[in-house]
Amino acid sequence: MTDAVTPELPPDQASSDVDETRLSREISRRRTFAIISHPDAGKTTLTEKLLLYGGAIHLAGSVKARRATRHATSDWMKLEQERGISVTSSVLQFEFMGYQLNLLDTPGHEDFSEDTYRTLVAADSAIMLLDNRRGVEERTRQLFDVCKMRRTPIFTLVNKCDRHGEDPLKLIQDVEADLGIDCYAATWPVFENDVFVGVYDRLKREVHLFERSGDRGATRADDTIVSIDDPQLIEAMGESAFDRLMTDIELLDAAGHTYEHDRVIDGSLTPVFFGSALTNFGIEPFLREFLELAPPPGPRESNLGPVAPERSDFTGFVFKIQANMDPKHRDRVAFLRIVSGHFEAGMQVVHQRTGKPMRLASPQQFMARDRVAIEDAWPGDVIGVMDRGNLRIGDTLGGDGKLEFQGIPRFAPEHFARATPADPMKRKQFDIGLRQLTEEGAAQVFFAETSAGSQPIVGAVGQLQFDVMAFRLEYEYSAPCKFEKMNHRWPRWLTGKPADVERVATGLGRMKVYDHKGHVVVLFQDQWALRRALQHETSVQFHETAP
Ligand code: GDP
Repeated sequence: MTDAVTPELPPDQASSDVDETRLSREISRRRTFAIISHPDAGKTTLTEKLLLYGGAIHLAGSVKARRATRHATSDWMKLEQERGISVTSSVLQFEFMGYQLNLLDTPGHEDFSEDTYRTLVAADSAIMLLDNRRGVEERTRQLFDVCKMRRTPIFTLVNKCDRHGEDPLKLIQDVEADLGIDCYAATWPVFENDVFVGVYDRLKREVHLFERSGDRGATRADDTIVSIDDPQLIEAMGESAFDRLMTDIELLDAAGHTYEHDRVIDGSLTPVFFGSALTNFGIEPFLREFLELAPPPGPRESNLGPVAPERSDFTGFVFKIQANMDPKHRDRVAFLRIVSGHFEAGMQVVHQRTGKPMRLASPQQFMARDRVAIEDAWPGDVIGVMDRGNLRIGDTLGGDGKLEFQGIPRFAPEHFARATPADPMKRKQFDIGLRQLTEEGAAQVFFAETSAGSQPIVGAVGQLQFDVMAFRLEYEYSAPCKFEKMNHRWPRWLTGKPADVERVATGLGRMKVYDHKGHVVVLFQDQWALRRALQHETSVQFHETAP
């Protein structure tokens, strides 16, 4: 494998001429997005179906078989191994209708971590996938909040419509009430005797009637498309299904929101679609509308103002670092989201934080057996580059060394554990490892004052982060570590007069710790203690993330 820094490579290619027409064409056909959902809503099934439509796989296989062997690794690694398709664990790239799609992995289940949140910072839009019986669930809400904070356009897909679910109108009302976002029903399910037989595309005014294939969604769903104004529609649909659809449309037109593209782009209105990832019904109409309506890569904020993707020189930022868990290959891959310009493998760029030039070689044979290295990439794309510990999450690459993209926010940890070296003789390696892994963004570290000195406390968004930390401390730093999980879970950063902060932080059911910058953070034992403090302690301010 090649390293990110290999100074002996040939001279600078960063300034090679970029064909402007090619650049704008590549930008306009790219859609970089993530799927946000609660476990079991059907993300794996939908991903597989998007690949099926994108022609990346020919037959969608049994999701069940794969679920049985699921471990705490990315689902995609398994997809990759089983199907021999080109996937990194961070991005799935495929084409459909002339568009280049970058589907960013949002680890869920056991591998849910801060990376899941950070990935959303690299996406230009998100698909919010809901189960038609459960609607908005806890994980959906957490991920939605990150999108909302960044005003990411959201496209909602109500899944599993092949089986009886909540009334579609009620579902939409619940989404609006729960998440505070307006909904526009972009497609509407068509039922014939309560069986899901098609969708009506309100924007195109077309009804799609699906044909049952009998292969349980292994191939694309064939459909007949009839205009809503076509007199033959009644016959094609059957009278009762037609009547029910007409009543629903009338209701939607009268009571629902209208489609306003600007509001979709600023994240205040979500188009809602209905379908079944299992049978493929409604997936293609959804995908087509999504590709047309979702934004291509746009400008990104920096210290020098917005950076447009059309800017000719290469710029990008690191949003994820993945350590190789194979002890034989102790290298790491840094994932960059390209913001502007054209990436060519081996190009030299400035690493803003250190001010040093770096040569970017994308990783060869990264994970997949027959993966070809990326030679070429454009704004919106994600590339993995080999790194020996120079890069950190949030780092800017490219530009003139002064440009710095707006940092990736830290997200409040949800789990805490006391960390101690298993071997007291390895205290020094342990401290170094903990510091470096925290800087890299593997987890967050806090400190509690104890009679025996300062006690490190590791905070993580997902449980798996502790296992990864323990593994890496042992194998990369020779410092095996013990984690003792804590009951305290709800962190708040405090600001205010020092005496007030001290008093509030040390109250009953609370624990005072410091973050790596020395800010006081209070951990609450339960939500009740937190709620009580928020209500009564008015002399200090509480912050969900570092102020
Ligand atoms: P994930 O946890 O979000 O990745 O969900 P999966 O894709 O693994 O799906 C969870 C379960 O829901 C599996 O048993 C799927 O077969 C099932 N499922 C997914 N999509 C559909 C659908 O459209 N209809 C029905 N009936 N089941 C579905």
